[in-house]
Amino acid sequence: MIKDELDLDGRPNLNLASFVGTYMEREAEALMIENISKNMSDADEYPAMMDIHARCIPIIGNMWGAQKGQHPIGIATTGSSEAIHLGGLAMKRRWQEKREREGKDKSKPNIIMGANAQVALEKFARYFEVEARILPVSKKSHYRLDPDLGRENIDENTIGVFVILGSTYTGQYEPVEEISKTLDDYEAKTGNHIPIHVDAASGGFIAPFTHAKAGFKWNFENPRVCSINTSSHKFGLVYAGLHYLGGTEESYTINFSQPGAQIIAQYYNLIHVGFDGFRSVMENSMANARLLSKSLEATGWYVCISDIHRPKGQFEFNPAKEVWHKEGETSADYNAGLPVVAFTFSDQFKDYSHIKQESNYPLPPNEEKIEILRVVVRESMSLDLLDRLITDICVVTQQMMDTDLTDLQVWQPGQTSLEKQHQSLGKNAHHRKKHGSQRPMSEGVHRSVC
Ligand SMILES: *Cc1c(COP(=O)(O)O)cnc(C)c1O
Repeated sequence: MIKDELDLDGRPNLNLASFVGTYMEREAEALMIENISKNMSDADEYPAMMDIHARCIPIIGNMWGAQKGQHPIGIATTGSSEAIHLGGLAMKRRWQEKREREGKDKSKPNIIMGANAQVALEKFARYFEVEARILPVSKKSHYRLDPDLGRENIDENTIGVFVILGSTYTGQYEPVEEISKTLDDYEAKTGNHIPIHVDAASGGFIAPFTHAKAGFKWNFENPRVCSINTSSHKFGLVYAGLHYLGGTEESYTINFSQPGAQIIAQYYNLIHVGFDGFRSVMENSMANARLLSKSLEATGWYVCISDIHRPKGQFEFNPAKEVWHKEGETSADYNAGLPVVAFTFSDQFKDYSHIKQESNYPLPPNEEKIEILRVVVRESMSLDLLDRLITDICVVTQQMMDTDLTDLQVWQPGQTSLEKQHQSLGKNAHHRKKHGSQRPMSEGVHRSVC
């Protein structure tokens, strides 16, 4: 009965919105099933698994530019959210210890992030009592953390800066090196050292492998970068794990119990897929994302906000004449970023103002007038599927253009499911909205930016 009910679910691979991996090799799946009952917190019971975990750390450290003589410390967490909280806590603790040594007030820590930050970053600030200085993004900053605003908002109470390698909104990499230079200048003037934590949930497994790299020094090659997180279940090509909740015990992580099978699968991918394999998977995803972007723009109906399909250094809308790949080109010929296509109706399309863009989400506060649709091009979005997707988008758009307002009203979806119609915001939802904080957590950062 349960199995039958689950047939009502969508097919994970057809979910265009998610960053979470939906394909694994059979051998990796078998390894996960064989080890599904092992708990990471039972270290004594599972020494081989602990050994495999330990081997992943230097591999990933080297992947992220650990320098000669450095021995990166790392740990598997249940995901980037937990890892971000740990990175943030380490920065807070170091700042507190320094303030204590100097005999200064340590009651008002703050942390800097862009308004495009994933919800886990804001949660860190709320849960661990750090003031979140959430800086608005703009077209000028390519909808990312703006180094100029960063400069104006740091002070002696700033514990660190969260910089995102791969904004979940548009896939654009935040300028780690530029922000780091701003912090160098500040340190030279004031003596205050402000570290950077890089949230590389998606980019941590893309930038090291693509020919485009990140376009700047984003990892441990940059001495200001003190910690980095990534999600194996995104571009590490491992299925997402179960989320166990447990008490805080003697371990680095916030969760205690944690499945071990994912770690084994990550190790399998690292050594079996290897550098060349990861490069080929990521280059392929980038090429497919470019094809989708260029095809959308070639219709004249859509403009991309993401810019991984624009020649390196160009950020203006200028539809490519040729959508297909050129012989021998790589991601390095284009702007660096995640294989994400964020798009919206073009100005030209505004003549069809009776057609509403649906299933979209707004850009971060300050730019929320711009509503975008987003496709994450993962490994399993093959060329055949992409071909169908592009054709379907064109056919549907053309159909809508040929249909008048009255017919469209019948046709356009309203509430999507019965469940949604019965959802409630809880008691006093109305009251909460009126008197709550400016942007209450209950509204989320944005609809499912996961
Ligand atoms: C997905 C994501 C997170 C949260 O990661 P989980 O592994 O789902 O906890 C945080 N930051 C960014 C930029 C993300 O893309």
